[in-house]
Amino acid sequence: MQSGWTDRDAEAVVARYAGLGRDLALRVYTTRLLGQDPRLVLHGGGNTSVKTRLTDLNGDDVDVLCVKGSGWDMGSIEPAGLPAVRLAPLLKLRARENLSDEEMVRLQRANLIDPAAPNPSVEALLHAFIPHKFVDHTHSTAVLALTDQADGEALCREVFGARVGYVPYVMPGFGLAKAAAQVFDADPSVEGLVLIKHGIFSFGADARQSYERMIALVDLAEAWIAKNRKRTLVSAKLPDGPARVADVAPIVRGACALPDAGTDGAWKRFIVDFRNSDAVMNFVNGAEVTRYGQAGVVTPDHNLRIKNWPLVVAAPEDGALPAFKDATRAAAAAFAGRYRDYFSRHNARVGGGKTMLDPMPRVVLVPGLGLFGLGRSKKDATIAADLAEAAVATITDAEAVGRFEPLPERDLFDVEYWSLEQAKLGSAKQAPLAGQVAVITGAAGAIGFATARAFAAAGAEVALLDIDGPAVRTKAKAIGGGALALGCDVTDAASVRAAFDGVAGAFGGVDIVVSNAGAAWQGRIGDVDETVLRQSFELNFYGHQRVAQAAVKVMRAQGTGGCLLFNVSKQAVNPGPDFGPYGVPKAATLFLVRQYALDHGHEGIRANAVNADRIRSGLLTEGMIAARSSARGLSEQDYMRGNLLGREVLAEDVAQAFLAQALALKTTADVTTVDGGNIAAALR
Ligand code: ZN
Repeated sequence: MQSGWTDRDAEAVVARYAGLGRDLALRVYTTRLLGQDPRLVLHGGGNTSVKTRLTDLNGDDVDVLCVKGSGWDMGSIEPAGLPAVRLAPLLKLRARENLSDEEMVRLQRANLIDPAAPNPSVEALLHAFIPHKFVDHTHSTAVLALTDQADGEALCREVFGARVGYVPYVMPGFGLAKAAAQVFDADPSVEGLVLIKHGIFSFGADARQSYERMIALVDLAEAWIAKNRKRTLVSAKLPDGPARVADVAPIVRGACALPDAGTDGAWKRFIVDFRNSDAVMNFVNGAEVTRYGQAGVVTPDHNLRIKNWPLVVAAPEDGALPAFKDATRAAAAAFAGRYRDYFSRHNARVGGGKTMLDPMPRVVLVPGLGLFGLGRSKKDATIAADLAEAAVATITDAEAVGRFEPLPERDLFDVEYWSLEQAKLGSAKQAPLAGQVAVITGAAGAIGFATARAFAAAGAEVALLDIDGPAVRTKAKAIGGGALALGCDVTDAASVRAAFDGVAGAFGGVDIVVSNAGAAWQGRIGDVDETVLRQSFELNFYGHQRVAQAAVKVMRAQGTGGCLLFNVSKQAVNPGPDFGPYGVPKAATLFLVRQYALDHGHEGIRANAVNADRIRSGLLTEGMIAARSSARGLSEQDYMRGNLLGREVLAEDVAQAFLAQALALKTTADVTTVDGGNIAAALR
């Protein structure tokens, strides 16, 4: 590992934050350098600090500790992410015998210079008790590979010698701060501290010294591992024809979903993120993956994101998916059972009173295929997969030089069920469609785009499909938040299959489909050319059937029901003159909805439709509006408001109707009319 420090970059950051002082600016600079290397820290892990002087709200100069605040990532930190705490009151705490985590947080908050600043890190006291001006802390994978061994401390002493102090494992908080300070005081000449089964600290008189000591110590660990590799992971015998990710992901996702105890038919679902780098494949294909893979997390706070162990399933064989599905569901149930046992055992040990988290895995290892990270959103799934990849790197190295042995279960429980984490439970409000994947066809059009936006706002991960690839990519970008764009021609079976494979690969499956793609053909029905009628049927009937059939296949693999929504049309029940080529297939699609509701209700799959009319869109362009309104002697506005309510109906109104149908878990075979009121088109 090499230092990324350059004087030019350092001075640029100093110039950018000129008003905040050199100390804080350089603290921001090297914190980012550390945070941008996944071999050092990931997603909120690690922390840094600087001791400096600031002017408080009264105008007095005070000594402060600027330390990473909770909720900030080191890689993208800003000065606001390093809240300043008065140093003297923190130092006074060292004389105490005990200090609960809650008291520690209150005292730290009470001494913030800015009362609106985020909570200082739980490791803030450790930073305060080390007298050096700059203090850096990471969870380096190479260092963890050395400490996560039965004889981790002895191994680290061999590698680092007297350059660092060695702190036996203590849970982060006041106890760890005192223990670390004691080790430091015993030999204040050390450049850093190795925290056994947790990570590494470095410190120095200036930002560069502290940062480059971290790099040098990590480099020492990496070099030692490279030189002392004794063995590699031995591969297991795997099936010759592995199954495809697109087929496996829905099975894994469905097996890990939990029925919602409160509502019949509701599920707590997860989004998945797939990885299959060479390192991941080497790891999941190992003959002993269930031993080293499930021994525990590499550093304790990872279990807040990925639990203590991943789920390991059997290698899926192409052509044997039903057996794989049964085995995966049994393995997930066994995982949940093991988790419940672990919880009750340790909850009893600590005197009870903890609230159990959901018992489902956040990482699934699939021999022959790769690994899945699971989360309630794509973002959380990605974080889980990132932590899993860091664990793969650490454990592979640990096994190469010895045998991976992380913290025992009881210490992991104390972090996972830490009182401050338990206090956060229930405070985060979940969006109504969190954990669900919605696919919208015709998503570059007005109604499709409005619907995708409404579903994304309700917390779903959305996949926008459209025959116009570039247009739908622009629309997905406008939604942001990882919305997926895929070119898809619903009149082509292969294109539909490829799109659903793409969605399963990106999110793990499909829960809701809004089959919206359509186009209008006209002609007097007694004269119309049959090819025109067939063309319209291809899109306005078979297009819906192809999409719905592809969705049912994925929904069945998941086994958690699903929701099929169709954009039908007023034309399906109230034909317009010369609109037969459009209305006839739409009428067939209305019955298609009912057929799906009837045939797939027992699988928990619902089917509903929206009949919309007179919406500004690709089917009713501004030019058509101008022509039709003038033909009827109406203003454009009156033409668009020509309904019982006298209000123009918008694409957003149609989107809200689809959303309501997606959320109405006991509603199927329903048709919702969104037309401002038209008695001739009302269903009877
Ligand atoms: Zn740490």
